[in-house]
Amino acid sequence: SERPATIPAMFATLLERLPDRPAIVEDRRLSYCELHELVESIAAGLARYGISAGDRVVLFLGNRWQFLATVLACTRIGAVAVPIGTRQRANELEFMINDCAAKIVIHEAELADEIPPAASIATVTHLFAIGGEAPGSQPFDALLVGPDTAPAAPPASEEDAAVILYTSGTTGRPKGAILTHLSIIHSSLTFARCHGLTEEDRCIVAVPLSHVTGLVGVSFATMIVGGCVVLMRQAYKTPDFLALAARERITYSILVPAIYTLCALYPDLDQHDLSQWRIGCFGGAPMPVPTIEMLARRLPHLLLLNAYGATETTSPTTCMPRGCWRENMDSVGQVVPCGEVVVRDETGKPVPPGTPGELWIAGPMVVPGYFNRPEANANEFVDGFWRSGDIGSVDAEGFVRIFDRRKDMINRGGYKVYSAEVENILTGLEGVQECAVIGIPDPVLGERVHVFVKPRDNALLTPDTVRSYCGERMADYKVPETVTFLSDPLPRNANGKIQKAVLRAMDRG
Ligand code: ATP
Repeated sequence: SERPATIPAMFATLLERLPDRPAIVEDRRLSYCELHELVESIAAGLARYGISAGDRVVLFLGNRWQFLATVLACTRIGAVAVPIGTRQRANELEFMINDCAAKIVIHEAELADEIPPAASIATVTHLFAIGGEAPGSQPFDALLVGPDTAPAAPPASEEDAAVILYTSGTTGRPKGAILTHLSIIHSSLTFARCHGLTEEDRCIVAVPLSHVTGLVGVSFATMIVGGCVVLMRQAYKTPDFLALAARERITYSILVPAIYTLCALYPDLDQHDLSQWRIGCFGGAPMPVPTIEMLARRLPHLLLLNAYGATETTSPTTCMPRGCWRENMDSVGQVVPCGEVVVRDETGKPVPPGTPGELWIAGPMVVPGYFNRPEANANEFVDGFWRSGDIGSVDAEGFVRIFDRRKDMINRGGYKVYSAEVENILTGLEGVQECAVIGIPDPVLGERVHVFVKPRDNALLTPDTVRSYCGERMADYKVPETVTFLSDPLPRNANGKIQKAVLRAMDRG
């Protein structure tokens, strides 16, 4: 019989080969066999609560075993998991739940205050809470009905949607990138092959599972070879991270550069036995050279390998091969198998090799588009390529370098902040005539969020009024940390576009 490359088919293979290997470590330890039983049980529960193929299930959860089990359960019955980061606020959540017309929301009990009122999320028929009681939500255990219910059919096509992940964009409204079974499996195999993962590997997840790197790059890449995923649930703190990594004899990680920098700077790093940790992949932002040098001294057996990608490419577009990172330190690695990166100028014409331009990306890891966004799809997905908005080059050996970006985005320790999103919200504050957000350099995070505000005549605004207004309406990492008030209007070019380069120069001055 034909076996399509779907996530349930991948999981079935593991179960046949490695039923007793450890799959997940969190507040309990689950073997692949135990995980399978829970997945079947949750899948049956979702079906009982009305979920069928194609329906969306929102996960507003931290890094828990239930997160991965529910993603697997959704894919088991052809439903679509929609992870949303726990730092998002109620109005952001409301937008995304409505945008994907979710039927079920599974959330952290302690985040119940961020769940929008029932009337404003009318498509949702059931809410489930984990980690305590929450008014209006049933306990997650209500979903664990047991696999005795007749299981629904798994998806038949590898092109089916498996996960929707929201990314913001230059228009300021989040868009749901549709990850398919195939794109997830392709990316998982890419990492597993490039980093030589096996069932012996133990991988730490210290970045959110709600981001593509945590979900696909780390978790699925480890599971596809039968390795063990160690979930760090609490907010990142270096001592907790190192203690967990040592206790669980971690062999593999994919983290943002900021975490490696904090480890490199940590005085008691040598107190932890990290001798098993062989590969530290990094991505999401450029890596500071001093971090690489410090870690080479302090953890000499750790191989640091760059990977470049985006939500729209289901994580990796390029990976650094293990053998030649030293000669290619300034590069993000080579294009993944079956992938293609073409460098084009502003008119869309390919440029000569080595010349910088926008990276256009194609291959099985590229998502088919955004959910219900014909306009953005027409602009960003052209002739089978996704336009990344990143400026870079590709050399004769296929090594890719990233220099800059065209998109108006701030990269705060790997968390992406789209200026337009912050500006749109802040313009709603009374007394703000106009505002513009830029990134300012930071030694650990790479960039921090700064805003220039031109108040209306006589308006009394302080940095605190600006920050608290934003804090109630957007995830904490998007809130401008510093504010400059201007008495003159913002500098604009002849077309009326705000000149951010002038603002950046003002800030440096
Ligand atoms: P995650 O959302 O899990 O953090 P991600 O960073 O790969 O994963 P996005 O949040 O969609 O995905 O951000 C993608 C952007 O991040 C890229 O377009 C690029 O600007 C930047 N980026 C990603 N990887 C690198 C890298 N290795 N070096 C420099 N910039 C990177």
